[in-house]
Amino acid sequence: MRFFGFLALMLALVMMIVSCGGDGEKNSTGQQKNSTVESSAEGTETPSDRESGSTDVDVDPDETPDGTSGDVLPTTPAESESEPSESNTTPEVSDTDSESSPTTPPETTPKTEAPTETTPVYTEPAPMQYTPRAMMYHLIRDDVYGIYDALFVRPSEFESHLILLNELGYEYIFADEWRLTDKPSVILTLDDGYLDNYTNMFPLLKKYGAKATVFIVTELIGTDGYMTREMIAEMAESGLVSFQCHTVNHVDLRYLSEEELRVEFSESSRIIEEITGRPVKALAYPGGGYNSTVIDVASEYFDYAYTTKSPYSVKEYSAYNVPRYYVARGDGRNQFYNNLK
Ligand SMILES: [Zn+2]
Repeated sequence: MRFFGFLALMLALVMMIVSCGGDGEKNSTGQQKNSTVESSAEGTETPSDRESGSTDVDVDPDETPDGTSGDVLPTTPAESESEPSESNTTPEVSDTDSESSPTTPPETTPKTEAPTETTPVYTEPAPMQYTPRAMMYHLIRDDVYGIYDALFVRPSEFESHLILLNELGYEYIFADEWRLTDKPSVILTLDDGYLDNYTNMFPLLKKYGAKATVFIVTELIGTDGYMTREMIAEMAESGLVSFQCHTVNHVDLRYLSEEELRVEFSESSRIIEEITGRPVKALAYPGGGYNSTVIDVASEYFDYAYTTKSPYSVKEYSAYNVPRYYVARGDGRNQFYNNLK
């Protein structure tokens, strides 16, 4: 009985296995399918969860249209509005510049120093300044008298000097107008007031539009060999000749007292101003003699004082120690040109 009972049980089990064979296989894979179904079931569950917005995986496909539409719209209108927004980008660039400058202070620091160094470069193109060349003449005549032949510059030589000055574009300035000039300049001076200054030099000045300064010894005015008051007045009136002080008696000023110096300066200046109607502001030391006392007193009466020293031998000079190139007889165009350089 137990055997039949066992067989019946086994039979029943076999029947169940046979009847459920496919299901058994299904069950074997069913657990996997169930796992996938469960996952899909979870996936199907997620829409409800999506509505709640709990899951991230499902949000991506929906957010792309939603989120990107929200992102694209502001971006594309921002791009479409880029034209007005470019005005925003422009200040951004300026902001970056302004930001870059503070972010790079070590670079900007030398750059700011460099412009300060280049700044004077922009001011340097200002017109170049020239020191006027002062020339010293005495007589302008061919025939010679006395023992100082060198003092007698031929009119033809003086004319060649004026031609050269005009060719080189020199500016003529008077002795009492000494100043740095924007173009090469020259101060033609003639000492003592010789008669030929009127007869020979004055016509050449008018011919070439040149200007000259005559240092007058007032005690010699109208005497033999010297210009008269009328000649001086005429020349001064032309505007081509300036008459300045060479004292009254043409004595060595180093041996005069201060009071005597004052008389020499004030009296001669008074006479010249009386004749020309123009102020006297420059002095030529007679014989070239001067010292500190002479300069001190002269500075009370004049703005400039000229010596007989050559600029070649004077390194430093002031307004009361202005050197002059000695123009001697025989100095032609070439020698005169050398003095201009
Ligand atoms: Zn003299």
